[in-house]
Amino acid sequence: MKHLLIVEDNKIAGSLISTKVSHALPLKIHWAQSLAEARELLDKNNNDFFAALLDYVLPDAQDGEVIDEVVNRGIPSIVFTGNVLTQKERLRLWRKNIVDYVVKDDPQSLEYLTFLLTRLDKNPGIKIMIVDDSKFFRVVLSRLLRVHRYNVLEAVDGPSALNALEHTPDVSLVITDYSMPGMDGFTFIKRIRKRYGREGIAILGMTSERDKNMGARFIKCGANDFISKKNFITEELYCRVNQNLESLEHVQTIRRLATTDSLTGLYNRRYFYDTATHLLAGARRSNTGVACAMIDIDRFKIINDTWGHQIGDFALQQISDILSSYFKRDSDLVARMGGEEFCVLANDISPSNALKRFEEVRHLIEAKPLDIDEFQQHTVTVSIGVSTHAQAKLDHMLRKADELLYKAKTSGRNQVCADIDT
Ligand code: GH3
Ligand code: MG
Ligand code: MG
Repeated sequence: MKHLLIVEDNKIAGSLISTKVSHALPLKIHWAQSLAEARELLDKNNNDFFAALLDYVLPDAQDGEVIDEVVNRGIPSIVFTGNVLTQKERLRLWRKNIVDYVVKDDPQSLEYLTFLLTRLDKNPGIKIMIVDDSKFFRVVLSRLLRVHRYNVLEAVDGPSALNALEHTPDVSLVITDYSMPGMDGFTFIKRIRKRYGREGIAILGMTSERDKNMGARFIKCGANDFISKKNFITEELYCRVNQNLESLEHVQTIRRLATTDSLTGLYNRRYFYDTATHLLAGARRSNTGVACAMIDIDRFKIINDTWGHQIGDFALQQISDILSSYFKRDSDLVARMGGEEFCVLANDISPSNALKRFEEVRHLIEAKPLDIDEFQQHTVTVSIGVSTHAQAKLDHMLRKADELLYKAKTSGRNQVCADIDT
């Protein structure tokens, strides 16, 4: 479990914060009430803290000394301050390389605090690419983003960034300069957008150009947001980066909900139709073998009627797990088409091999009985219809697989029927 350090001398505030954050995240909380106690805890735990929440004013450190102490040990720190800060105080705080500050008396602060901690928890898994020909700017931005624990990559120009994106497609955010030798920021963004839509990568434009239209032009080229280097403010950078990543995550969540089945986590019928059509067209072009199988659980109604829907759901999950771990190549598509019916599209496979693999998976399912309770198990079987006519259209393959499934059912269930001679 991750360790969180809280340094706060006010007992009520300290316990309120501890309760709130431990509800939001699984954390082991260490609470110190003075700078001296904080040092002791840091030493005792070898500075192994995922983050720290620090009160600016402590009985033995009246002027933020605890911040330097903790930040210098490499721990991302969020500071509690009283009231509203003056511009001078705010600048002083940001110079200390903090993650952020939170005004103590504001009732919304606790919410914001848990938002920040959740981000700090996720950020090491999030890749941000900085594209700028200025080394100075790359260094400054990387350092700032690493304070928030982001995984930061750097590129010196558009072409090398595009090349790096080929090899690291899971970059979530690209922060790009405008004026760079070889390829300007606008051209670079348009090139990214040819390959990745807004649900794939967020883009933040930056420039020191005086032209007031730069923000609008960046966004019209495909950027999500813009920050001026001229009036650069760390706090604004963090707000925009966090906000753009949050939006990206929301879009990805919506997409996941729209394309998968919530019970089994498999793709749903809609996703299957969209993707299978492309996969089949690709297979026709490259003249590779494809198999399309309809899989239906045998006598599933009996499971529901005998032990209830929950056990029925459990059976659906177990069979989904077997199917998705058996057909796990990138080119395999496994979907729940509805009820207790699944469909698998396997690419680059010969008809005889397809028959062999579906026989194997049928056998795996039969060999893994469903645990009803401590004392009872129930053998679940499936019937499978396999169509291997690679030159056919999707509708035709599905119809054929359905007919063969019907044949498997009427010939006694727990078997595979395919459109090849054996
Ligand atoms: P057969 O061997 O001919 O396929 O018989 P069967 O009982 O499997 O088929 P039938 O179509 O008669 O029954 C399917 C049942 O699946 C009926 C329906 O209530 C149940 N079912 C559909 N979706 C779900 C689900 O999400 N969860 C559960 N628990 N049951 C479901
Ligand atoms: Mg430049
Ligand atoms: Mg059935």
